[in-house]
Amino acid sequence: MPVIRVALSVPLDTLFDYQADDASERDIGARACVPFGKKRLTGVIVAVSDHTQIAAEKLKPAYCIFREIEPLPAALLDLFHFCSQYYHHPLGMVIMNGLPVKLRNNKAVKLKKNPHDYRYVLTAAGKSVDSASIPARNRVARNLLTGFQRGAELTATQIKQISPRAIQLIPEWIQFGWITVHPISAARTTGSVKIPALTSGQAAAVDAITSSNRQFDTWLLHGVTGSGKTEVYLRIIEPVLAQDKQTLVLIPEISLTPQLEAVFRNRFPAVPLVSLHSGLNDTERLAGWLQAQRAEAKILLGTRLAVFTPLPNLGLIIVDEEQDGSFKQQDGLRYSARDLAIFRGKQESIPVVLGSATPSLESYHHALTGRYRHLRLLSRAVQNAALPSIGCIDTRINKTQDGLSQPLLQALDQCLKEKHQSLIFLNRRGYAPVLLCKSCGWSAACQRCSSRLVVHLRDKKLSCHHCGHQAQFPRACPQCGNQDITPFGQGTQRVEETLAGHFPTARILRIDRDSIRRKHAWPEILHAIQTQQVDILIGTQLLAKGHDFPNLALVGILNADNALYSTDFRASERLFAQLMQVAGRAGRANVAGHVLIQTEFPDHSLYQALQRHDYDALAQTLLAERKTAGFPPYVFQALLRAEANDIRAVLDFLSQAKQLAQSFETVELFDPVPAHMVRLKGLERGHVLVQSPSRKRLQTFLTGWYAKLMTLPGQKARWVLDVDPLEF
Ligand code: ADP
Ligand code: ZN
Ligand code: ZN
Repeated sequence: MPVIRVALSVPLDTLFDYQADDASERDIGARACVPFGKKRLTGVIVAVSDHTQIAAEKLKPAYCIFREIEPLPAALLDLFHFCSQYYHHPLGMVIMNGLPVKLRNNKAVKLKKNPHDYRYVLTAAGKSVDSASIPARNRVARNLLTGFQRGAELTATQIKQISPRAIQLIPEWIQFGWITVHPISAARTTGSVKIPALTSGQAAAVDAITSSNRQFDTWLLHGVTGSGKTEVYLRIIEPVLAQDKQTLVLIPEISLTPQLEAVFRNRFPAVPLVSLHSGLNDTERLAGWLQAQRAEAKILLGTRLAVFTPLPNLGLIIVDEEQDGSFKQQDGLRYSARDLAIFRGKQESIPVVLGSATPSLESYHHALTGRYRHLRLLSRAVQNAALPSIGCIDTRINKTQDGLSQPLLQALDQCLKEKHQSLIFLNRRGYAPVLLCKSCGWSAACQRCSSRLVVHLRDKKLSCHHCGHQAQFPRACPQCGNQDITPFGQGTQRVEETLAGHFPTARILRIDRDSIRRKHAWPEILHAIQTQQVDILIGTQLLAKGHDFPNLALVGILNADNALYSTDFRASERLFAQLMQVAGRAGRANVAGHVLIQTEFPDHSLYQALQRHDYDALAQTLLAERKTAGFPPYVFQALLRAEANDIRAVLDFLSQAKQLAQSFETVELFDPVPAHMVRLKGLERGHVLVQSPSRKRLQTFLTGWYAKLMTLPGQKARWVLDVDPLEF
């Protein structure tokens, strides 16, 4: 009597056995719907056995096994197993988190195929059918067959032209084996594609990667902004496509998808490409996922979650902007898509390419020590495109007014006169305009979080950027009654108003999370920028990434300094990467680029390195600091994070947890502390940091600790382990 072992999305680190009379080994990786307590749940079968530890009278039968789609391939199940072990998260939760929403339901999926996404090709069997063998009264069928025999393949539109009813014959003919179905890649672009001759750096990189393309290696493609990393990606994908294999391309932000997608489709117009990102609805996501699973999609472009897509014929993985924090999930299962991508590459014996202008110190360290193979692109790809000149404006001498200094305003003015575009970049980390009473020091704070509320001038509202809570603008200070309470600091809106005052005829465009929320906002914005409908852009980190703005000549950077005060040991690394990136937007084509940074510390080593475009100098300095201080990449860290209604309960739980650990302590274990932002979304949070110079020792410790933590009875605090944490 077969027993299926099912991974369910419940916070218990175990599998659940059910009786399933019709189950066989082939069902491993299929979904099953089973009773769980009083509920019905759907999980994934990870094993089929002929015995169980469960007493016969307790063993319940499964409701059904879903077989409408292929089971998950073994390699994907291995990835889930690894992910569960490495991040110490229940397997069922890992698996179900990685599947499209439609596959988590207690229902079989209905595969409504849109006939227009496919072309229909006559098979040899179809060719040999004699149309005379079809009864004359069945005119539609006869005409359809003649149509096929004339053209060998037809699209849905062509079939409908033969007869509106002809399309209904298609499923039956597929069944007969007369025709096969092939996806049409969505955008067939016309016109010839200009393929540039590679620079010598690009050529060397392409050669190195393609010549060892059947083995696992992690390549760090380290190229300055504008060095043409995308072209390298395209060239290394080519041979993979020629072998009919699939490529997974991971990218950090949804906003980058359309641009990169267009580049790929242009270069490979006939190749089926699927893009998976958070902007899709559940049906679209499932459709893309299935195309990948059936190996119909040859290129899969996606954000973080796409790393869990089944790709039975994977030949290459590319992670663009590998240093980007968005590859790490920041709640629930805290996985790093970049690190899992490397696991996948190893598992499949294929190359993994990590691209960046400013690699994470972890990856850079691996490259220096030879774990990763280092490829460098030292100059810009486009002829005459030099790297932008970077300078500092000392704001101790040039005082700012409403955030802007005189030299910066002059530079903006000059840029307007020359009809070039400029960009004002606000470093938003830990910074936003808040409402402040200057007479008593009161500031508007969120009731649910400990964070300050951010002022939105346009709709006269205060809003919490952590939990979304909104509040009205108070008329007077609730503490002292002062009526003159003013927004303090400049957000993007304040800067926009100030600039509009200085340059009344300039066309100013502000870009922030709110302005790109609408579905097609991004493409429209990019179009406006590229067609010179904008003179001055104002934005935050959203603007820093990957976009190509050919007419951008000036970048002004405000508030960079506040990262220098941060308590986060990664703040300098991030600031440098972000400023290099945003500086990289300028001077891409025939326009020379200038970057001006307003700072009180123009001599700081970070700004000095930046002015020389010297990533290595800064990286070496930071690595030396990290080594002395005992920080990653010289140690490996994990956090036990906990949250509860009040911080007492959190710290109590964490102390208890720490006690559990003491008996087998082989790692460095710190005391429980409240999180940097204690209150978040109505809960209070804290953590315990664990670290070790040996990843293996840390992992062994975590495995033991996790097992003990799971046995702690009914807790007031919710907890999770965060392995390789990026935020504290
Ligand atoms: P990166 O991602 O390294 O910042 P991009 O891939 O965006 O750089 O390339 C920058 C620009 O250089 C693009 O406009 C691209 O079309 C162009 N480019 C890339 N390779 C070449 C080449 N070999 N010759 C000429 N132009 C190139
Ligand atoms: Zn007051
Ligand atoms: Zn809040």
